[in-house]
Amino acid sequence: MHSKVFVLGLDGVSFNVLDRVIQEGVAPNLRQAIAEAATGDLQSILPAVTYPAWKAYATGLDPSQLGVYWWRALSIPEKRIRQNTARSFRGREVWDHLSAKDIPSIVVNMPSTYPPHPIQGVMVAGAIADDDSAYAYPERVQQDLERRFRYYITPRTTDPKEAIVLIQKRFEAAFYLMETRPWYFFHLTIFLIDHLLHLYFSKEGLHPVLAEAWQVIDQNFGHLRYRLSATQNALLMVMSDHGMVWKKGQLNLNAWLRQQGYLAVRNVSSIVRQLKPGISV
Ligand SMILES: [Zn+2]
Repeated sequence: MHSKVFVLGLDGVSFNVLDRVIQEGVAPNLRQAIAEAATGDLQSILPAVTYPAWKAYATGLDPSQLGVYWWRALSIPEKRIRQNTARSFRGREVWDHLSAKDIPSIVVNMPSTYPPHPIQGVMVAGAIADDDSAYAYPERVQQDLERRFRYYITPRTTDPKEAIVLIQKRFEAAFYLMETRPWYFFHLTIFLIDHLLHLYFSKEGLHPVLAEAWQVIDQNFGHLRYRLSATQNALLMVMSDHGMVWKKGQLNLNAWLRQQGYLAVRNVSSIVRQLKPGISV
C-alpha cells in the first residue's frame, strides 16, 4: 500500500505523441513503465486548453464552474483583453483540501498557479507569470531554488535549447523538494514539452529537438520512478491536460464577420488587419 501520490503532468502529451516517441526508441523508461502500468485515454475538458484544463484536474470543476475558458479573457467594462491568473479561477484545489487536514503537498510548475497561494507544503508556480519576482510559497523556497538551480519560470528567449534546459530544471527542483520537504501529494507539470510539440511535432518522423527533449524527460522519468519506489513508497501517476494533433484549418471569425459587414471596429488593430478571413489550411 502506497502512502504518497506523485502526479507527473506532461503537457499536451496524448498516446499518439508518446507512441511515436517510444517507436523511435528515445524513451526506454517510459516504454517500460507503460508496459508495466495500467494505462488509458483520459477525456480533456472543453475547450481542451492548458489553462483551464490543469485547474479542472486540480479542482474537479469544468471551465464554466471555474469561470475561465482560455489563457486570456475579454473584460467588457475595461474594453480590453486581460491575462487570466490563478486569481481568476473559482474553486479549491486538491492541495487546498489536503491543507485543511494538515496534509502537506508540493506543487511545481503547474500552469494557472501564478501567483502562488499559501498551502500546507510548497507551491512553485508555473506559467504564465507577470514577472519572476514572487513565484514560490514559502518565499524562501524561491531563493533556495535560484541559488541551487538558477531556477526561473518564464523562458528568456524562444530558443528551444533554453526550453530543454528549463525542463531539466523543473525535474531538479522537484527531486530536491521531494527529498528535503515533507509531502504526501506531489504535482509536477512539464509544460514546455507542449511548446516544443507545437513547434516541431510533424508527420515526418521525430524532429531532433523533440528527440533531445524526450531524452531529457525520459532520463528524469526513470530516475523519478526509481526514487519514488526506492525511498518514498509513493504511487506514480502520469497524465496530461489535453492531446496534440495536426491542425486541419482555422476560422478567423472576427475577420470574416468584418469582411461580411457584420462587425465594425473603431480602430482596426494590426492583429485584425493581418488575419485572413475565413478558413485557412
Ligand atoms: Zn497544455
